[in-house]
Amino acid sequence: MRVLVVEDDPLVGDAVRRALAAAGFAADLVASAEAAASALHAESFDLAIVDIGLPRVSGLQFLQALRQRGTGLPVLILTARDGLEDRVHALDLGADDYLTKPFEIPELVARCRALIRRAHAVTSTRLALGSLNLDLAHREVTVDGALLDLTHREWTILECLVFNAGRIVSKERLKESVVNWSEDLTPNAIEVYVSRLRTKLGGAADIRAVRGMGYRIDAREK
Ligand code: CA
Repeated sequence: MRVLVVEDDPLVGDAVRRALAAAGFAADLVASAEAAASALHAESFDLAIVDIGLPRVSGLQFLQALRQRGTGLPVLILTARDGLEDRVHALDLGADDYLTKPFEIPELVARCRALIRRAHAVTSTRLALGSLNLDLAHREVTVDGALLDLTHREWTILECLVFNAGRIVSKERLKESVVNWSEDLTPNAIEVYVSRLRTKLGGAADIRAVRGMGYRIDAREK
């Protein structure tokens, strides 16, 4: 899952980006609302973490513009400790959650996972598709109770497909969910990951390639 971090303090921004990467997210960092707007224009993200105190255009103005355009992207706002008014304002402008600085990284990461689940209308931390069972909190997948050994990227692709089960997910979307700007994928990498996933799933679910469009996952008919 892809996260955009909008924070002008390079120390905080980099710590957040690294923590998200360690938790298996593909995260990118920008230092201004303007840069965030171009990033969102260019690629799909699953979540934005936005600091309120940004130069020129504040995090609140950025959020307001985003919601005025009708963008439903989940947004977690970072506010100063004494920022009660900012927090209230942010929630009223359409922020999905907030954290007060200084915050603990594990809490930030857990909130990111929760927001992404909610965005996919997943109310539990477990997601089932036929005999597949995904534990979204621990990034584990089991088939009939047996744990599968997946890499970070394989897991992310599977999660993305299962969130959209029965619908086509474009190859571009899958690519954007596994790599940030500093990483590169070879042109056929997604095909390779999907093919490894199919092998590891061993027929527990069907991942079909839809020519020219992408992939879709469906529960295997019993
Ligand atoms: Ca700031």
